[in-house]
Amino acid sequence: MNDYRIVVDAGHGGSDPGAVSGNLKEKDLTLKAANYMYDRFKELGVPVAITRSDDESLTRAERLRKMTNTFGNDSKVLVLSNHINAGGGEGAEVVYPLRTSSALPAMILDAIGDKGQIKRKYYQRVLPENPSKDYYYIMRETPNTTALLIEYGFIDNPKDQVKLQNDLLDYVEGVVEAVSNYIGVPYKKPNQTDSPTEANTYTVKRGDSLYQIARSYNTTVSELKSLNNLTSDILTIGQVLKLPGYNENQNQTPTASNEYIVKPGDSLYQIAKNYNTTTTDLINYNNLPTTVLSVGQIIKIPNTTSNVTYTVKSGDTLYKIANNYGVSVDSIKKINNLTSNNLTIGMQLYIPEGTTIKETDYIVYKVEPGDTLYKIAKKYNTSEEAIKEYNKLTSNILKVDQVLQIPTENSTNENNVYTVRSGDTLYKIANNYGVTVQELMNLNNLATTLLNIGDTILIPKQITDF
Ligand SMILES: [Zn+2]
Repeated sequence: MNDYRIVVDAGHGGSDPGAVSGNLKEKDLTLKAANYMYDRFKELGVPVAITRSDDESLTRAERLRKMTNTFGNDSKVLVLSNHINAGGGEGAEVVYPLRTSSALPAMILDAIGDKGQIKRKYYQRVLPENPSKDYYYIMRETPNTTALLIEYGFIDNPKDQVKLQNDLLDYVEGVVEAVSNYIGVPYKKPNQTDSPTEANTYTVKRGDSLYQIARSYNTTVSELKSLNNLTSDILTIGQVLKLPGYNENQNQTPTASNEYIVKPGDSLYQIAKNYNTTTTDLINYNNLPTTVLSVGQIIKIPNTTSNVTYTVKSGDTLYKIANNYGVSVDSIKKINNLTSNNLTIGMQLYIPEGTTIKETDYIVYKVEPGDTLYKIAKKYNTSEEAIKEYNKLTSNILKVDQVLQIPTENSTNENNVYTVRSGDTLYKIANNYGVTVQELMNLNNLATTLLNIGDTILIPKQITDF
């Protein structure tokens, strides 16, 4: 390739929140941006390191060490320091060192602008007392690197606040694209697959929405609808959608998720068992003359509701996926014949039978000041009576911090309930369920995208289940 290396920096952290406005803290936004950026460069195959991937306090010396220790200290080390501005202004800025040309900073600012943010400026900033030196220590004290400070917007500007909560990762994606172009690495969008057959049709999976599919394949909902003559946004699991570039004349082989390639030692019985189907079903479905298999033979797997598949996304681990579906890592490895825990983005995984996206039949709710039974019931699409009955309440009076169990089972609830886990972001949750961050924020009346572990989030149901 070439010898560019990237150090992603999440500005501030731990005891240093950076700029703060209401619930919004710079350190949280920069962490979100940096983790995403790190994952993306990794996905693109660029050598990349990160200064912090948690809410961690770093001293100046520690941060500098992390910036220059891993990859050294030359101009092909790109230090991308993520920040959020404050102090009255609107839009994005890029600051670059005195030793560096303006080419990359200009590309980065343009890319953020292309994603819808206002472009303020790219510029160099010097120490007032010594104009031969950079103002920022991450430039001044990393003497040879290409250290850039990227300010995505102003935390104290109302318009930027909305953008930073909804579009920050889009802006980061813009930066990733600009940097890839600059260093000569072929850029690919997240989740984009290499396989040309997969690029032409897509089989709908649990949790998919047209919006998400359109996004994954770089197209629009309306294009997908017209291509597939869809009259509504409702999808069914297993439905095959034509994607842009679909060729009517091509041989319509089933997608990878519906096929199994026979490996040495396989038996039809074992394959049937792994996919929660029967030997008879496989024989009929594949018109097999016998149960004897040959290595390399392709067995089509009938689509049943128990054949839940999941497409691996950036940042996924087996552990995370298993957790999301309430199953064990081992059971996923077994059913997919995985010999290691390594996943590749775009890989299709079968999720063992009997599992759906984890839903509880009640959720735990802690009463907040101003809550009434009516408000809580409305929020969770249930009735006051149901809550009273479930909790054996004898009156409507609630106490702050009182813990209630809110039934979700017999309610007319059209939404799933999700409990926030460590490492979750609203973006990740939205992505997992195929909805938008904005939809989640609206449904849950969230003022910010910041989540607390244990929070319950309502997830709109997007597709008709069987
Ligand atoms: Zn900052």
